[in-house]
Amino acid sequence: MNYYQILKQYFGYDGFREGQEELICGILEGRDVLGIMPTGAGKSLCYQIPALMSDGITLVISPLISLMKDQVASLNQAGVHAAYLNSSLSPGQYYKALSLAKTGRYRIIYVAPERLVTEEFLDFARNTKITMVAVDEAHCVSQWGQDFRPSYLKIAEFIRRLPSRPVISAFTATATKEVRDDVIDILLLRNPVVVTTGFNRPNLYFGVQAPKDKYAAVKNYVECHPNQSGIIYCLTRKLVEEVCGRLCQDGFPAVRYHAGLTDEERRQNQDAFMYDTAPVMVATNAFGMGIDKSNVRYVLHYNMPKNIESYYQEAGRAGRDGAPADCILFYGGQDVVTNQMFIEHNQENEELDPATRSLVAQRDRERLKKMTYYCFTNDCLRDYILRYFGEYGENYCGNCSNCLTNFEEKDITGEALAVIECVRACGQRYGMGTILDTVHGANTAKIRQYRLEGNPQYASLAKVPAYRLRRIGNHLLAAGYLSATNDEYAIVKLTQMSERVLSGEEKVRMKFAKETGQEAKQNAGESVRGKKAKGGIPGLQGEADEALFGRLRKLRAEIAKEEQVPPYIVFSDKTLILMCAAKPSGKEEMLAISGVGEYKYAKYGERFLACIAGKQGGADPGI
Ligand code: ADP
Ligand code: MG
Repeated sequence: MNYYQILKQYFGYDGFREGQEELICGILEGRDVLGIMPTGAGKSLCYQIPALMSDGITLVISPLISLMKDQVASLNQAGVHAAYLNSSLSPGQYYKALSLAKTGRYRIIYVAPERLVTEEFLDFARNTKITMVAVDEAHCVSQWGQDFRPSYLKIAEFIRRLPSRPVISAFTATATKEVRDDVIDILLLRNPVVVTTGFNRPNLYFGVQAPKDKYAAVKNYVECHPNQSGIIYCLTRKLVEEVCGRLCQDGFPAVRYHAGLTDEERRQNQDAFMYDTAPVMVATNAFGMGIDKSNVRYVLHYNMPKNIESYYQEAGRAGRDGAPADCILFYGGQDVVTNQMFIEHNQENEELDPATRSLVAQRDRERLKKMTYYCFTNDCLRDYILRYFGEYGENYCGNCSNCLTNFEEKDITGEALAVIECVRACGQRYGMGTILDTVHGANTAKIRQYRLEGNPQYASLAKVPAYRLRRIGNHLLAAGYLSATNDEYAIVKLTQMSERVLSGEEKVRMKFAKETGQEAKQNAGESVRGKKAKGGIPGLQGEADEALFGRLRKLRAEIAKEEQVPPYIVFSDKTLILMCAAKPSGKEEMLAISGVGEYKYAKYGERFLACIAGKQGGADPGI
């Protein structure tokens, strides 16, 4: 079988996604490869397909037990013999799996890195034909990344101790140069084929809202998206407790997750989420690594995270199946303050020397600033993120809250002049908050203490509403008309562009949402997507399809229970949506649906066909 046939027969897909074919061909030619692709791009197939075409065993190194379990369940569902070896197995189970492995039962074996150089495992590996070692989440070798794992350093030693060197393939979603170089150096990749795909995720909708009442906004969203699975990220454990508690009280199937819970509760809640019994997860950033759930339809941020890297990683957990999904950030001014506090009191950096620590804090403040600008920009949000990662695209995606908002550009030179003049007149010694208070004419202790009532610009913008002044202030910083220092005080300084505005050489323009439209609604806490969001499952047309989707999902849940795997491993949301659209009535038509492979068809195809024909299942769309 060639690799196209394998893709179709085992995984049920018709074509490769960007980067996959190149990496697979590299491996098949015996080259080492490094695939750098965003979350959800389909990295697993890049090593699984060559593994199925080789006559030896492929070892996959993966950092987390939950990831291994998920992947092995997926492979087994696709009809591939695979197993994992990690500390979740009892010694008895471990030796049984190992002895089955010795008989050649498995094509693909997932191994925890700390197992590699143990005597039993080495003994097995030295006496078997290992054709490839695939290193998943390869950024774990790098101390630059956020997820450094010392046990990943054992991989190279393990490979050195094998009688013959297998092909090494490595995969990660982290694109920075430091991490890429570390992966190549530490894993000792030899002249690897390196493939980096774009980081854009077109199926994700990006939105920013600044609702007065965050809880009301989140609740409204969850209410409008019943039966959908989503994650709500909060900055603190306390907020997780609060938001989850209120959602449960309001009757929503939510569970919580943060580092302060017992292992047992965390495991239970994670399972409830994975198995869709509690499809809404409220969590801190402790939740996520190792969550490959493909049918997460939305990721809401109750708070702004600390930087764009974290935001994109967390938001990226939505829509891995490629079907439309929402990523909405609910911004509030307090989020900046909380993040600043985390930076000033970062305990992880305690062991660093003072100079390094201050450098790290400075870098973190800079990143926080860029994150804050994301919440205030009126330009394309997707473009903002991609630019941050060094990719240049069009400044219009048509699928973010800014591209979908009607803006009008206004001349704000007058306001800009007042703010810039104020900064100059007070000697460039204050942060933006104080400057804006001054031009707004506030009467605070600080204003009195520093005698800012005497500033020539005091109260010169008294008539401009405070929220609008904040936007203007942020725009001036983000667009470079002013700058802020990187220390904890973020003192506002003049720039070359300030001079051009002061001298009258340059006019300042800024986009505002038309007042009657989005901004007013956002401030009232309504969904930006308004009615469109209420329909529920994106990609379905009409009530009949929605009802069918409900029945298919019910059948999927039944099968998942029988098989003891999470529902999305039986079929992804995307595959069910395609079934609703195509309504296949026979084997050939069913096999043409993306995600339906031969093996799954043989196991469940007829039950799904019967359901589509209306011969099975009730109307209850329970998840
Ligand atoms: P990653 O590891 O890059 O985050 P995964 O390997 O977990 O991504 O794949 C994400 C999802 O995309 C899975 O549901 C997978 O089955 C699906 N997928 C992968 N390759 C393809 C393809 N060529 N066509 C359609 N779906 C695919
Ligand atoms: Mg992966």
